Amino acid sequence: MTVSAVETRASLLNSAQFAQDLAEKSIAGEELSREEAFAVLSWPADDILTLMQGAFRVRQEFFGKRVKLNFLLNVQSGICAEDCGYCSQSRVSDAPVDKYKLMGPDDILEAAEKAIANKATRLCMVASMRGPTDKDVNSVATAIRQVRQTYPQLELCACLGLLKEGQAEKLEEAGVTAYNHNLNTSERHYDEVCSTHTFADRLDTVSKVQKAGISACSGALFGMSETAEDILEVGSRLREMQVESIPVNFLVPVPGTPFVGKQELTPIQCLRILALFRFLNPRSTLRIAGGRELHLRSLQPLGLYAANSIFVGDYLTTEGQAGNLDVEMIRDMGFELEGDVPGAAGEETPLSERVKFTHRG
Ligand code: SF4
Repeated sequence: MTVSAVETRASLLNSAQFAQDLAEKSIAGEELSREEAFAVLSWPADDILTLMQGAFRVRQEFFGKRVKLNFLLNVQSGICAEDCGYCSQSRVSDAPVDKYKLMGPDDILEAAEKAIANKATRLCMVASMRGPTDKDVNSVATAIRQVRQTYPQLELCACLGLLKEGQAEKLEEAGVTAYNHNLNTSERHYDEVCSTHTFADRLDTVSKVQKAGISACSGALFGMSETAEDILEVGSRLREMQVESIPVNFLVPVPGTPFVGKQELTPIQCLRILALFRFLNPRSTLRIAGGRELHLRSLQPLGLYAANSIFVGDYLTTEGQAGNLDVEMIRDMGFELEGDVPGAAGEETPLSERVKFTHRG
């Protein structure tokens, strides 16, 4: 089928059938054709619900209505020697972010308690660095052991940059659940985003993680002048690598970073990307990560028809929506929090307490 034939088909009255066909294909383990993927990325805005219904069919098949919450902790902030154009913590960023060295185990343990209070089932420990020294790995491994002992139910994900031989194994021995290292964009586009390391370096770390038997978490970041081809390429690459968890970030153009002027996304485009990633990676946990509030705005709930996970609390250097609003959004949609205790929903603010009087004059 040609591109125009597929696009025409998507725009006709049978778009609902087309979306369901894509869903069935995805569930059966087949990869979408390039033409089908491009049709998803150009899905008519006024018919977006049909596309999200297709994505929801796949999500429901593998994840039901469950939503997993992750809690981010910036364990080393603002002192990275790399030059990633999107990052507020890079050496080329003037953003007024906090600067501190690697946190010790006690601070990480304290954050684990906060993660649980926010109903998160995974704590993601992220350090701004090119890659850890062996001393850094030992320190994080000690923290992992302590958190494991105190909160055995909490999954732990480390994100410490590029790994050297033997470091993934040390984290695995300490009991880390997952290791995050995003591909961010396509191989072709990577040079436009960073010059101090390569796409191949990133692939190498993900491969080391998988070889060490750690669950690989690797995703992408959109809104950096990538083309539809780049979006498809990074989504397909993650499919090929069979990563278990895929964070999807939307660029937050932080003042002081080289990418501050980029304003390319719309809420509808973010939904199309999420739907495509769900079709391409039906069994992977799809996490809507940075930029959710800024880019999806009032359409945030629709993102959950494709994704089955979000981050609660603040991001690495920017504020997120209040955690209780996220929980409320999930429950209002009739979705369920993963790991939630039945009957623990009694924290809702009574409607009468939400009424605010206007006072004029
Ligand atoms: S390697 Fe990570 S922390 Fe360092 S500049 Fe790039 S994205 Fe930021």
